[in-house]
Amino acid sequence: MDALTLGTQRLVHLDLKGAPPKLCYFEKFFPLIKELGATGILIEWEDTFPYTRELLPIGGLSNSAQVSGAPYSIEEARQLLDMAADFELSVVPLVQIFGHMEYVLKHEQWRNLREVEAYPSSMCPSNSETMALVRSILKQIIAFHPGIQYIHIGADEVWYMGLCSTCSKRVNTGKYGKPGLYLDYVTAVAQYIKENYPNLKIIIWDDMLRSIDIHILQEYYLGTLVEPMIWQYNSAETFHLGAPVWEKYGNVFSNVWAASAFKGATTSSQILPVNKYHVSNHEAWLSELGLHAGKIMHFKGIALTGWSRYDHYATLCELLPSAIPSLSLCMKTWLNGGYNPELHNSVGKMLGYNDNTTNFGSPIKSPVLPQLSFPGWQIFVGMEWFVNLRTKYKSIIDSDQMHSWFNQWQVLNNYTNPMQVDTILPVIVDLLNELLSLETYLRGHLELIYYPHTIEELLGTLIDPIKEHLKQIKSDCETQLSLGCRVRGQRRLNI
Ligand SMILES: [Zn+2]
Repeated sequence: MDALTLGTQRLVHLDLKGAPPKLCYFEKFFPLIKELGATGILIEWEDTFPYTRELLPIGGLSNSAQVSGAPYSIEEARQLLDMAADFELSVVPLVQIFGHMEYVLKHEQWRNLREVEAYPSSMCPSNSETMALVRSILKQIIAFHPGIQYIHIGADEVWYMGLCSTCSKRVNTGKYGKPGLYLDYVTAVAQYIKENYPNLKIIIWDDMLRSIDIHILQEYYLGTLVEPMIWQYNSAETFHLGAPVWEKYGNVFSNVWAASAFKGATTSSQILPVNKYHVSNHEAWLSELGLHAGKIMHFKGIALTGWSRYDHYATLCELLPSAIPSLSLCMKTWLNGGYNPELHNSVGKMLGYNDNTTNFGSPIKSPVLPQLSFPGWQIFVGMEWFVNLRTKYKSIIDSDQMHSWFNQWQVLNNYTNPMQVDTILPVIVDLLNELLSLETYLRGHLELIYYPHTIEELLGTLIDPIKEHLKQIKSDCETQLSLGCRVRGQRRLNI
């Protein structure tokens, strides 16, 4: 794989709509990714950007963000960009303008711009106020990022399109139906950017273009307006783009980008990245480009995406510190033109694993915490601990003993055998104590890197439900032991 095929850009995606780190984390993260071989960052601020004036409710300066301790202030956002510049990382802001608009459309004042009244995901391209809003968003984002060469305007996964009465009329009467509706809007946004910021190049996600006929793309002169970023996050087994996509893009666009994934692309509630899967995704990309890069004029490079949520309302998936091993392996696989055990070992050493523990990325089995050396490794280890603990919890709750001697009917009817309860209680108490230790450990380390609203969400999602359940079982065990064994038929009416 030669340098030309690989392109010159290697952007690391920062999806700040979930678990946005504090600045002190970027101070360590930026030199790390620079060292790994990144050339820049693809920064998706979403609701963390300090929007002002008419857009103030959307971002980090809104009342709700302030109340919940969410980032970023203007000063913090500036410092973040300055820090990236200090490490000579180019910055490409990513701002959605069509689908994935929940961060805007959930607000009452922009509710009228929804394509489907009940759903806040897609904007109506036919509403005259939509373009005014998008211009305001773009103006503030572009003004905040002086000197940028690229802006990414998303435009992927517009799931609800052509459904309101105006849009459906346009789809039914327009020359190109839904593709025409999509392209009318995206090219209008791109033209606005070109007219007002002539030096700025525009990237869009490619998925909506895959099914659009080449002649329609050519008729819209899309290749003169935008550069597609082709995303494919699957492992080699299910990775599929294929020759027709490359042939089509090669005939429409001069410049093409790729997007892989190092986290946030396996399951929507994933806690630890599946390193093997993400490495395989990069290997598949290398092989795909080996086959098809010749069909396009310029391959610009790759964005290694790291999704923090599947969408604005989805739960958090892998945290950035937990994904440093995956990111390191993926970047090195990409630069090396493939993966091999030596590469794995050298990345392991770089991250602080000794020779005996280079099999990183699978939950730790030992209660002794390792000492690693990458930024935020304590959170990674804490999450490994959590995954192990949750597995233990599930196996206890779902055990034969619980189903046979401590099920809900038995507890409600005070019909339990103390001999069994005496063996269940210590197991539950041990697990609860371990969970409380983990909570203290995690909270302490999370507070160093994350803002209060992330910590509250994370612990409230992962730790609290298990904690409350274990406390309830413990209390039930104690009640049953105090009652002793009873004859059947004495419900807990008087307790
Ligand atoms: Zn509409």
